[in-house]
Amino acid sequence: MAEWVTGKVTQVEHWTDGLFSIQVNAPVDPFTAGQFAKLALEIEGERVQRAYSYVNAPSDKNLEFYLVTVPEGKLSPRLHALQPGDELMVTKEAAGFFVLDEVPECRTLWMLATGTAIGPYLSILQEGKDLARFDHIVLVHAARYARDLSYLPLMQQLQQQLNGKLKIQTVVSRETVPGSLTGRVPALIESGELEAAVGLPMEAETSHVMLCGNPQMVRDTQQVLKESREMRKHLRRKPGHITSEHYW
Ligand SMILES: Cc1cc2nc3c(=O)[nH]c(=O)nc-3n(C[C@H](O)[C@H](O)[C@H](O)COP(=O)(O)OP(=O)(O)OC[C@H]3O[C@@H](n4cnc5c(N)ncnc54)[C@H](O)[C@@H]3O)c2cc1C
Repeated sequence: MAEWVTGKVTQVEHWTDGLFSIQVNAPVDPFTAGQFAKLALEIEGERVQRAYSYVNAPSDKNLEFYLVTVPEGKLSPRLHALQPGDELMVTKEAAGFFVLDEVPECRTLWMLATGTAIGPYLSILQEGKDLARFDHIVLVHAARYARDLSYLPLMQQLQQQLNGKLKIQTVVSRETVPGSLTGRVPALIESGELEAAVGLPMEAETSHVMLCGNPQMVRDTQQVLKESREMRKHLRRKPGHITSEHYW
C-alpha cells in the first residue's frame, strides 16, 4: 500500500483556462527525474488519486506538477480549484521507469511530448545529470495552440544553459505560427519535416526516442518509427530505440 504524506500548495499558476501548474511543499522521499507521484484529495468521503509527473528537478524542494483540467474528470477539476495554503495528499515514494537510467547509449536523444507530458523531460533537463553521454538532445513539445506551450520560456532557458547540446522544437496542431511546426507528431516524422526543422536524423543507428503523453500520439509514433525507421521498443532484455509513457 502506498504511503501518503500531506502536502501544502505554495503556488498556483493558471496558464490558460485548462492548463495550470501547482507547487507543493511535502516531505516526499528522493525521486529520480522522469518519475511521477500520485496526488489525491478526499472527494465525497473517498480518496481519489491519480498519477502526475514531477516537473521540478529532484534536487529542488518545490515540488511542481503541470496539469490540464479534464472537464468531466473526477480529480483534475478539484486540483484546478486549489489555492495556496490548501492541502492535498502526495505519495511519499515516486514511481515509474521513464528515466534516463532506462535509456541505452545513443548519439541523439529525442524527447517527444504532447501537452502536460513535457513535465518529465523538464525534470530530467533541469537536473542536468547524465546528459554528457548524448551528443544531441531534442526536446519537442506538441500542443493544440501556441498559447498552450506554457513552458516555452523554460525550454529556451535550458537550451541556452545546455549550450548547443539541446535543441527545442514546438509543434501546434490547430493553428500556424512562426517558429512552430504545424500538424501532428507522427505525420511530421513520417514526412521528414521534424528532422528537417531540427537538422538531425531520427534513425535506428544513432537515435533513441522517448515518447510521453497522449496514448494515440504514442501509439501512432511507434508505428511510424517501426515502419519507416526500423526502430522498435526498448526492453531491458531486448535493447531497442523507443521508450514510452502513456498518460491515460
Ligand atoms: C504515469 C502518468 C503520469 C501522468 N502525469 C500527468 C501530468 O503530469 N499532468 C496531467 O495533467 N496528467 C497526468 N496524467 C494523467 C492523470 O493521472 C489523470 O488521468 C488526469 O488528470 C485525469 O484525471 P481525472 O480524475 O480528472 O479524470 P478521470 O475521471 O480519471 O477521466 C480520465 C479521462 O481523462 C482523459 N485524460 C486523462 N489525462 C489527460 C490529459 N493529461 N490530457 C487530456 N485528457 C486526459 C482521458 O480521456 C481519460 O480517459 C498522468 C498519467 C499517468 C499514467
